[in-house]
Amino acid sequence: MSGRKRKFWGWGFDDQRVPEAEAAMVRESLSKTYGTALEAAAVPPEAGEFDLRAPRIKAPQSLARIAHDDAHERLVHAYGKSFPDSVRMFQRHVPEPPDVVFYPESARDVADVLDWASRENVAVIPFGGGSSVVGGVETAVGGSYRGVASLDLGRMGRVIEIDRASRSARIEAGAFGPALEAQLKPHHLTLRHFPQSFEFSTLGGWIATRSGGHFATLYTHIDDFVQAMEVVTPAGQFATRRLPGSGAGPQPERLMIGSEGTLGVITSADMRLQDAPKFRASAAIRFADFLSGAEAVRALSQSGLHPSNCRLIDAQEARGTGAGDGSASVLVLGFESADHPQDHKLARALELVRDHGGQWDPPRQGGHREGAAGAWRDAFLRAPFWREVIVPLGIIVDTFETAITWDRFAGFHANVTARMKAAMRAATGHEGRITCRFTHVYPDGPAPYFSFQVPGRFAVLMVQWRAIKEAANEIVVNEGGTITHHHAVGRDHRPGYGREVPPLFISMMQAAKAVSDPAAILNPGVLFDPVSRAVGVTGAMAR
Ligand SMILES: Cc1cc2nc3c(=O)[nH]c(=O)nc-3n(C[C@H](O)[C@H](O)[C@H](O)COP(=O)(O)OP(=O)(O)OC[C@H]3O[C@@H](n4cnc5c(N)ncnc54)[C@H](O)[C@@H]3O)c2cc1C
Repeated sequence: MSGRKRKFWGWGFDDQRVPEAEAAMVRESLSKTYGTALEAAAVPPEAGEFDLRAPRIKAPQSLARIAHDDAHERLVHAYGKSFPDSVRMFQRHVPEPPDVVFYPESARDVADVLDWASRENVAVIPFGGGSSVVGGVETAVGGSYRGVASLDLGRMGRVIEIDRASRSARIEAGAFGPALEAQLKPHHLTLRHFPQSFEFSTLGGWIATRSGGHFATLYTHIDDFVQAMEVVTPAGQFATRRLPGSGAGPQPERLMIGSEGTLGVITSADMRLQDAPKFRASAAIRFADFLSGAEAVRALSQSGLHPSNCRLIDAQEARGTGAGDGSASVLVLGFESADHPQDHKLARALELVRDHGGQWDPPRQGGHREGAAGAWRDAFLRAPFWREVIVPLGIIVDTFETAITWDRFAGFHANVTARMKAAMRAATGHEGRITCRFTHVYPDGPAPYFSFQVPGRFAVLMVQWRAIKEAANEIVVNEGGTITHHHAVGRDHRPGYGREVPPLFISMMQAAKAVSDPAAILNPGVLFDPVSRAVGVTGAMAR
């Protein structure tokens, strides 16, 4: 990164605060919603206020060049960026910070850290941007290690080489979104992977978590853009071959994609790129109810039109983000191409949505950043910053995302909504709100993204949040959805993951880990337990 310090207790850089006028607007809006004047119960923390556990281990002289153990670094690397992470920072509660933070500058440095850690029984948590919302980078690893180190790839952010003919580039894993795109731009190429966390997340993190990005259909996850990769494990290194496709048995990249730092450290990847789009066509379509919007989206997803944006937002969320007035659900629909006009595709899509009661104003030229789409996009980018205003007010605000086949969607949506309302009431005694949008859609089903909000009490926010989060995990899996469509498993979704995949498959993953990481030092507690240690549930979900 730029050398600018990151905020350890919220989103963005240390010197970035929500302007007071904007903070007042958020407070007033919430006070109006809950009919009471909400007051902040805490102020943002300073690093000096934390009585951090003294480092239990020290980096060896050979790694001193890349090692840091000052309080700010240890705090930045203690948690990710989820709601409970913010709460614990505002409550000044960080019992298990990393003992040391390493900033490797090369694959050799990564290998040296892993060698040392394996010998010394030190757990190592790979860290990209630290934007995990599932406890993926948390340094809570159970009691069987001498210490815990965070391994921050942030100094490995170069685009190493570009193959213009094949439209791909080899990129170091610590490249943050904006720096990565800035290095591709002079070559008129783009990765076009824009998660909401784009500014503060990295290529290696996206691959390790199977991140979901810009494209609502077809290329929904980062997976298909990965051509090859280089990996450093405690047992050795490997690089896979750059190929446009291959049918040669199980693919090594596919084992690493989604491995969440448990099998090895991705140090670079060859990525398939795109030409920047020149032609766009978009429209915002209103539906009287969410389910008729969902039927229209189903028709679109099965039409072969492949819109790049196909975001159905329910009426309540549309009002909250300025994408609508609350009287209708809104579908933000967009097509793009570097090669040919998209108006004919939009025209056909509008015929399809009309059959399901969709209504729209005349589409505007280049309107993807105007009107409902623009308003929604602005709110989408600003929302992560508002958490620092909301947490001290004692409001629980969080999201969860999943995917479900079309045949089950209507019942799923109704049950998740009703049961989450009951869970929020049981945990806080208050009526909560839950809204839904689709982030990605497939011919066989949507990826619904739920946002919920309910007033809690600042002093017991963790207890209240945990009860609701446990209920959400349970409801989603019981109702037949996946525990996560793109936020990953980390520590917080582990029980749900254990129910989603067959036990024999977990044993196969454990066997792979026993080979690549024999001392079981890499990210213990994430995805599954290593065969040699019972780590169990650690982090925000641990009681
Ligand atoms: C406001 C906000 C919005 C978000 N929006 C989206 C979204 O739109 N789409 C989406 O998919 N996710 C989203 N997320 C979740 C998060 O940004 C993603 O999981 C992202 O892919 C994490 O990237 P990172 O570089 O921050 O990784 P980190 O959070 O640092 O790490 C994530 C996991 O990957 C492992 N890891 C990181 N780098 C490596 C590496 N080089 N080798 C091996 N393992 C590694 C870590 O150990 C950890 O388990 C959002 C999060 C926030 C806070």
